[in-house]
Amino acid sequence: MELILFKNMSSPGYTPKISSYLEAGGYQALEKTLKEIQPDQLIEMVKKSGLRGRGGAGFPTGTKWSFIPKTPNLIKYLCCNADEGEPGTFKDRQLMEKDPHQLIEGMIISCYAIGAHTAYIYIRGELVHATRVLEKAISEAKAKGFLGKNILNSGFDIEIYVHRGAGAYICGEETALLESLEGKRGKPRFKPPFPANYGLYGKPTVINNVETLSNIPHIVTHGGEWYAGIGVGKSTGTRLFSLSGHVKKPGNYEVPLGETFRHLIFDLGGGMLNDKKLKAIIPGGASAMVFTEEHLDVKLDFEAVAAAGSMLGSGAVTVMDEETCMVWATLNLMHFFAHESCGKCTPCREGAPWLYKIVHRIEHGEGKMEDLGLLADLCGNIAGKTVCAFGEAEVAPILGTIKYFRNEYEYHIREKKCPIHRSERLATIGFPG
Ligand code: SF4
Repeated sequence: MELILFKNMSSPGYTPKISSYLEAGGYQALEKTLKEIQPDQLIEMVKKSGLRGRGGAGFPTGTKWSFIPKTPNLIKYLCCNADEGEPGTFKDRQLMEKDPHQLIEGMIISCYAIGAHTAYIYIRGELVHATRVLEKAISEAKAKGFLGKNILNSGFDIEIYVHRGAGAYICGEETALLESLEGKRGKPRFKPPFPANYGLYGKPTVINNVETLSNIPHIVTHGGEWYAGIGVGKSTGTRLFSLSGHVKKPGNYEVPLGETFRHLIFDLGGGMLNDKKLKAIIPGGASAMVFTEEHLDVKLDFEAVAAAGSMLGSGAVTVMDEETCMVWATLNLMHFFAHESCGKCTPCREGAPWLYKIVHRIEHGEGKMEDLGLLADLCGNIAGKTVCAFGEAEVAPILGTIKYFRNEYEYHIREKKCPIHRSERLATIGFPG
């Protein structure tokens, strides 16, 4: 299958400079858009493509754009969500560092579709190199007349600004991102109103992920039907998967939706590190329920993964082998969630540290059998009772590992110890003890 998003950067000699992008046919989709396509036609084209958000929720992009009011002279904004912070996800960083103009072109076309003249890239603060690459690329695009006033003599004005976040995971949630961009503490807003009506500075706003926007020039070049012809069912196009953990060849892979986890892990990722047996897969980032070996033939598409009880989420696929302690792995994730709760609502603010404490005592041989019921009870009092989806996210690792690896929790409680010697274990995969 031919690559779409990684096509340019996989060509020998390709650089993030605008000269490389132009040689590869870059910005021709923008010229075509401005000359031949009306904003409404563009929205229909993206709807027809079936493109769905690549940040996690998988909402149809064209439909999201169509919610923006058509009122003339109304200020509207586009925000690119580049706050890639889900543990195990590192695909957007590669897109920004290696092919920034693909994203910038996608953003300009998207602004034209929704009638926005100002766009922001809200980038994770730690991504210093990607920030520099993007700022340089924006200057290059401006110098060539793709950004600024009256771009390519079309009468359309557009500016793009890069804004670095301060390191909070929750700012990847769209309304927390908007709060942070406005200079406030990054906490999710109650919805409704949704950003399409009340977004940045109270104006209609579209928030799209880096990978989502990077697909736009290709849809314009080849058409919505072409894109819809790749993938399976309602999961169209390709998707970038960040493969990590106990595999021989971790990295980002572009795969047509509809392939299987087995293909990703064993064909592309080279199989299990040290030829150990696969024990668990986190299929879509830390917030996704864990899978086991029995799920290897589940298809990498939104519906198939949901039907199997998890979610495709951010595209982070983390693989764990037979020697991984699943209680320890869960503890690791709970430490992350307890640290990252923004504190706005009580079930999450109070619940996440309690979940961490209980898993911590089980892992360290101090748990009781009643703790398993207590964990389930706590999870039931968090999920669905919070302001944002972080509540569901923080209980997923516990519910998933208790479902598939309950025997490991029971072993820790019964034997009062963890069966895995972590320092020896980590040394075998290249970590200091
Ligand atoms: Fe904040 Fe957690 Fe409530 Fe979301 S669920 S608003 S992260 S406290």
